[in-house]
Amino acid sequence: MAGRLAALRGRIDDACSRADREPAGVTLLAVSKTFPAEAVQEAYAAGQRCFGESRQQEAAPKIEALPADIEWHFIGGLQRNKARKVVAAFPVIHSVDSLRLAEYLDRVASEEGKRPQIYLEVNIASEASKGGFSPDELVASAAELAALRQVEIAGLMAIPPDDAAAARRWFAATRELRDRLRKESGLALPGLSMGMSADFEDAVLEGSTVVRVGSALFGYRPYPA
Ligand SMILES: *Cc1c(COP(=O)(O)O)cnc(C)c1O
Repeated sequence: MAGRLAALRGRIDDACSRADREPAGVTLLAVSKTFPAEAVQEAYAAGQRCFGESRQQEAAPKIEALPADIEWHFIGGLQRNKARKVVAAFPVIHSVDSLRLAEYLDRVASEEGKRPQIYLEVNIASEASKGGFSPDELVASAAELAALRQVEIAGLMAIPPDDAAAARRWFAATRELRDRLRKESGLALPGLSMGMSADFEDAVLEGSTVVRVGSALFGYRPYPA
């Protein structure tokens, strides 16, 4: 595990150097969904502190069992009936896919006394099979998003179409959309959550600040979760 983590970090750092970026500007989020607490513990022992989970019920016993200084990131589809538990346990939520959900999380966070960081998930290639804000919706929602007070809007999250060879242009499109939104809304939007096992280097070349890597660290996932 320590060797795999170091190798991944090395690849991220190489991509940073090619892009003339500081390695400290890219967080490696270890996506531990479907893997047991023991796997997280091994990565923790090797120094990893940020882990991503996509289902609240699956994550809860891991969070309970593992060290309190882990930073848990929620990366899955978020139902309203899970929002309160997710806000309580996850300081970072990458999968906020509508204005209504952002507003709801803002209210729940206020009630729970939390200040979560949220990423707005954008359906950057307008795929029928995917959720998320359309680019137009995001621009149209900018003023309402900028008015939210309890959540901190960290930036955009995107999952490009399943074609690693084409991923880079979608990462670039996500960054350009972020730049446009930043100008029009005044939101700072410093974060870009993009890049997974198959394409994280291209994501770093296009400005990713958080790469979400599962299988390249933990191994083959028998079901997609
Ligand atoms: C599962 C998942 C990942 C990690 O995928 P890998 O291909 O295993 O690296 C990243 N982001 C999201 C949103 C996921 O659901």
